[in-house]
Amino acid sequence: MANTPLYKPNLVIVISGPSGSGKSTVIDALCKSDETLRFSISATTRKPRRSEVDGVDYHFLPKAEFEKHIQQGSFLEWAEYGGNFYGTLKSEIVAAREAEKDAILEIEVKGTLQIRTQDLSPARSLFIFIIPPSFAILEKRLRRRKTESETEVKKRLAIAKSEILEIEHFDYWISNPENAPQKAVQQIQAIIAAERSRIDTQLIETINPLLGVDQSD
Ligand code: 5GP
Repeated sequence: MANTPLYKPNLVIVISGPSGSGKSTVIDALCKSDETLRFSISATTRKPRRSEVDGVDYHFLPKAEFEKHIQQGSFLEWAEYGGNFYGTLKSEIVAAREAEKDAILEIEVKGTLQIRTQDLSPARSLFIFIIPPSFAILEKRLRRRKTESETEVKKRLAIAKSEILEIEHFDYWISNPENAPQKAVQQIQAIIAAERSRIDTQLIETINPLLGVDQSD
């Protein structure tokens, strides 16, 4: 029994929080530190930023193609954010399961709420909200990265306020302090470790045959 892995990856880990809260940096570090995590590559109609690569950071799609996916029911969730569409393709979750990895999603709050109301079994979902240390710091971070115009920064700040008001729908919150993303990473690693140790039906199904217990009893 000692050599039998009792944990089979089946988590859909949703990381949300305002734009500028540092989600991408934290998720990057998490994925580098844990090869059983698979980043879910979202689809978006937003134009790529200079450093972004299609199929790595996002699946960059024309609006018509995105709308076709909506009609075909290909999305686990999707939402409009700042004038663009963003969505998680169901195929990303399937790919994680097939690779025997936990899926990790970086999405905004409206999409999170759509997943919250779905039964993902046999997968289990986990919702984590990353909160910036203060609104002033969030504003500073958004301006400093220079990826959005002033109008877009203002839009994102307004959305951030409404997103923070939805924090009650999450399981955990993490503060992401200035210049210390490693602290947030460590906290999330601890939450994931705890979640992987949860006693659920999958564990019982794994353990019983090892003990010779007949599952049909
Ligand atoms: P950005 O344009 O900064 O890459 O993303 C804008 C917002 O969209 C961020 O809050 C980001 O987390 C969110 N986002 C990225 N991918 C998805 C997705 O697949 N679904 C949803 N609902 N939001 C997403």
